Amino acid sequence: MSEAHVYPVLNEALTFIYESPGKGYGIFAAKEIIKGTRIINEVPLIRLATGASTFQDLQIAWEMVPHHRSHEVVNLSFTAHSEGPQQNLHWIFEQNAYNGVDERILVVKAARINHSCRPNAFGRINELTNAFTVQVFKDLRPGDEILMCYCQIEQNSLIRKEQLRPFNFECTCAICDISVVNHQFVHEANESRLELEGLRANLDALKAVGNLNHANIEQGLECVDRILELAEKESFIEWVIFACSFAADAFLRKGDREKALLWKMEEKKFVEQAYGLDTVEGNEVTKWLDKEGFRGTKYLWHVYSETSGQIDSRIMNFKPKRGVWRDVSD
Ligand SMILES: [Zn+2]
Repeated sequence: MSEAHVYPVLNEALTFIYESPGKGYGIFAAKEIIKGTRIINEVPLIRLATGASTFQDLQIAWEMVPHHRSHEVVNLSFTAHSEGPQQNLHWIFEQNAYNGVDERILVVKAARINHSCRPNAFGRINELTNAFTVQVFKDLRPGDEILMCYCQIEQNSLIRKEQLRPFNFECTCAICDISVVNHQFVHEANESRLELEGLRANLDALKAVGNLNHANIEQGLECVDRILELAEKESFIEWVIFACSFAADAFLRKGDREKALLWKMEEKKFVEQAYGLDTVEGNEVTKWLDKEGFRGTKYLWHVYSETSGQIDSRIMNFKPKRGVWRDVSD
């Protein structure tokens, strides 16, 4: 590998870019990273509404990229084994775009993160700041590769394979590689997904009815326990949050405020790890706590500071400000 091809676009203190076997380049932890750390917070260089006639609209969007940053887009054309850059904007965009709810975006830092069906990081657009954030939701050791899931994690191995086809690679993670060695893992993961789908449908139905009674609350809480067991193993971080939220509401309905608070704090912990608290989801948790009279709760947040080059763990204090919950620690 040519040294010239290794260029850290992220702060070297926390992560570095290096060749990932069979995957081109990837992003790796340079030091221990605590789960819940936000490693990327970047404004997309290109945004296209879903369904835009990509070629022409892409050209217009490209002309709006600041000149001094255009090389960051071009750099994405270097793959680990290419002879030279494939300097084709369309190719770069199709290979690297992140699909949001109603738009496709190009984020040059996060684009280097490779895929796994058992990821350790979660990327999304923060609706409050419009920035793309990546947070790790598992503790990482130096050298661990940072991985996000490009497809719908809750799907079985065959559907995931189909969803990954446009990215031009075959996933070889522990629950995808259909070799004899992996067969049992693939089977187990598919079975877990089937079971999770059923459990999730049960909880959705109980929530939709809106009249949880004593009998079905117990049934719901049994589903929660099993969802947590399976979902943590499969890295379904959003389902873990959903299950905790359900349990908090269920215990509140049963009049057990102590357990309701414990479950809400569990939910808050996972929201913090996956999204951060400066998000719509973070606001919802803090609003719930306030509405139910659980005040004075402070939050410990781990975030990477560009200025100090360190992971700062700080206490945040959320309070309503002009109708929105914001951090008022400073
Ligand atoms: Zn996979």
